[in-house]
Amino acid sequence: MDITESNFEAEVLQSDMPIVVDCYTQWCGPCKILKPLLVEVVGSAEGVRLGFLDIENNPNLAERLRVTAVPKVLIFKDGEEVSAMLGVQPKKKYEEAIEDVMSSHGHEHSINHRDEIMASEECGCFYCLKIFAPGDIKEWVNNDAACCPHCGVDSIIGSQSGLPITTEFLQKMHNCWFKGGNE
Ligand SMILES: [Zn+2]
Repeated sequence: MDITESNFEAEVLQSDMPIVVDCYTQWCGPCKILKPLLVEVVGSAEGVRLGFLDIENNPNLAERLRVTAVPKVLIFKDGEEVSAMLGVQPKKKYEEAIEDVMSSHGHEHSINHRDEIMASEECGCFYCLKIFAPGDIKEWVNNDAACCPHCGVDSIIGSQSGLPITTEFLQKMHNCWFKGGNE
């Protein structure tokens, strides 16, 4: 998706999913190397979007985002810039940055989520990695955070959050939030 001065507010700041914005110019060689790399990395991560911002065509937005050199990759979550990476970085750098953002996004969806959980097709626990139906949940912490019916930990996310309910994603969240805790 192309990000422009006119859709930035709606597509980036108001996005309910984290979004990676690749700031580029038509004539920048490294930008051409970076683009397919980002398509690959973001394409294989679920629950995150990718946008492209031509800074020559959108100079006011580039100035507002303080993008003076390209390629520059910005990551936005909940209307805020949470990461900025200048130049072409190793693929792993982008993967790690996206995992960090997704993981903190996921954590926000593990509290104050009763309606979201009940509207979900399936839920996952990022402590014990089990996947189950919302109807299996019997207990809530302070009435607003679901407890896992398998391990009892309040580390549940639901599919309605837009996050991927897969063992791989739950494992990534687990590694981020319970490092060394359950292994
Ligand atoms: Zn569990």
